[in-house]
Amino acid sequence: MEYKRETPPKKNPLARVKNWQEFQIVMPEDKLQDQGARCMDCGVPFCQAGTSMEGSGEIGCPVYNLIPEWNELIHQNKWREALARLHKTNNFPEFTGRVCPAPCEGSCTLAINDDPVTIKSIEYHIVEKGFREGWITPEPPKTRTGKKVAVIGSGPAGLAAAAQLNKAGHTVTVYEKDDRIGGLLTYGIPDVKLANRIVNRRVDLLKEEGVSFVVNTDVGSDYPVDQLYEDHDGVILCTGAQVHRNVPAENSELKGIHYAMDFLRKNTKSLLDSGLEDQDYISAEGKNVIVIGGGDTGVDCITTSVRHGAKSITQFDIHEKKGMDRDHDNPWPLYPMIYNQEDGHKEAAAVYGRDPRSYKLMTKSFTSNEDGQVVGLTTVEVDTVYENGQKKRVEVPGTEREWQADLVFLAIGFTGPEQELLEQMDVKRTDRSTVDAPYGSYETNVEGVFAAGDNRRGQSLVVWAIHEGREAARECDRYLMGTTNLP
Ligand SMILES: Cc1cc2nc3c(=O)[nH]c(=O)nc-3n(C[C@H](O)[C@H](O)[C@H](O)COP(=O)(O)OP(=O)(O)OC[C@H]3O[C@@H](n4cnc5c(N)ncnc54)[C@H](O)[C@@H]3O)c2cc1C
Ligand code: SF4
Repeated sequence: MEYKRETPPKKNPLARVKNWQEFQIVMPEDKLQDQGARCMDCGVPFCQAGTSMEGSGEIGCPVYNLIPEWNELIHQNKWREALARLHKTNNFPEFTGRVCPAPCEGSCTLAINDDPVTIKSIEYHIVEKGFREGWITPEPPKTRTGKKVAVIGSGPAGLAAAAQLNKAGHTVTVYEKDDRIGGLLTYGIPDVKLANRIVNRRVDLLKEEGVSFVVNTDVGSDYPVDQLYEDHDGVILCTGAQVHRNVPAENSELKGIHYAMDFLRKNTKSLLDSGLEDQDYISAEGKNVIVIGGGDTGVDCITTSVRHGAKSITQFDIHEKKGMDRDHDNPWPLYPMIYNQEDGHKEAAAVYGRDPRSYKLMTKSFTSNEDGQVVGLTTVEVDTVYENGQKKRVEVPGTEREWQADLVFLAIGFTGPEQELLEQMDVKRTDRSTVDAPYGSYETNVEGVFAAGDNRRGQSLVVWAIHEGREAARECDRYLMGTTNLP
């Protein structure tokens, strides 16, 4: 009742788009302690509930962070104790403190009639203070079990699984087909939101704790599956779900139309390799950019295009503009589906004088010049209707519109995990092409092979990947040892 919600300030959008640095400004500790004091220590803290309700949304923190405990500890100036509580449930709070959409805050009891506690920022500041003060040091296990585990894929699920299995004393090797560790933490989420040095800082700790990392190794082609089984006692598949979804529109193969991930990946690789000096990326400089897809991946394309110096940026969202208040079917404590302006939208608005989003639009076709280069596209407005309880999109007659476009990014999600390795391993899939490994056991149909993260649940969130990596590690430990002490 004494303090209003405050979040850390961010650098001015017009200044920050001139570089590729993170732009959150550190908040003074005394202010954060006041923010921690806003927590009411509820008898039933929904913020740490950690539930995903199919079709309804998220409730609380998927890794069950002990939020009221660390809020009170920082209020009492006990930062180191708060850090220990945070690491109990989350291996990588520096990742979630930066990029988590914070379902915890939507479920905060204060959010019923006031602004929620600033949970995500407190998490970020606890872990960053821990690194600054030198409290976070390698903690290798005291004994080794002699069991060898392969983790395939080095995204947040793979890193969390490796950290936990190593803690249990197993000898862990993480195999990554890309040239850098991190999965989408590195080559999906732009460096301005989560800098690669932050990923490497944690990977270095894992290495010092005894985890081995092997990059540029595509398991199933560079490293045969038979050999994988021979070399290891257990396997955890954390290969993500990065098969692109194409847009069902005419002429989508034209030059200048790219999958969002190709644009984002190339940009980050060039940035990390050479500060963009090698020019080995898709440049949006001086181009009219259209981003198809209203989600976070689309926003990341905006963030990147603004920094390239695009001439104009427009983002199409097939949904209608969300309201400022929750709908009746989206009550507290569910994640609030309300209007929000992301950092990338704010940057585009500051540079081009308007929010880049256009709503209820479906792309029908693309047009090109004589070189096969995209020059424009046609959209139609769509309404969402329900027929026999099924959601359906219908075109609104007479709403066709032409748009000029030199560069188009397709950011309409992913169809599922890559199938090649799964086929080679005879791993059973669901009808959504994800790995069939039940939540809780994470066991596939192949003995000793477990699955976690996006390849099991479909494209999701970093925090869910960490949660599943931790839990699959626990089940793998149980399989190897007959019992487990992992949480
Ligand atoms: C552009 C973008 C932005 C996002 N932004 C956010 C965000 O802000 N916040 C958030 O919470 N979530 C975000 N997400 C979602 C989040 O990044 C994912 O849910 C999360 O990274 C999934 O983790 P994972 O470990 O399961 O898979 P991934 O991160 O996809 O990692 C899988 C890894 O496995 C490797 N691999 C695959 N097959 C093989 C093989 N055969 N051999 C060796 N290696 C292999 C891949 O190269 C990859 O590195 C974003 C997603 C995208 C695409
Ligand atoms: S991990 Fe995400 S949901 Fe959990 S406390 Fe942090 S911001 Fe909230």
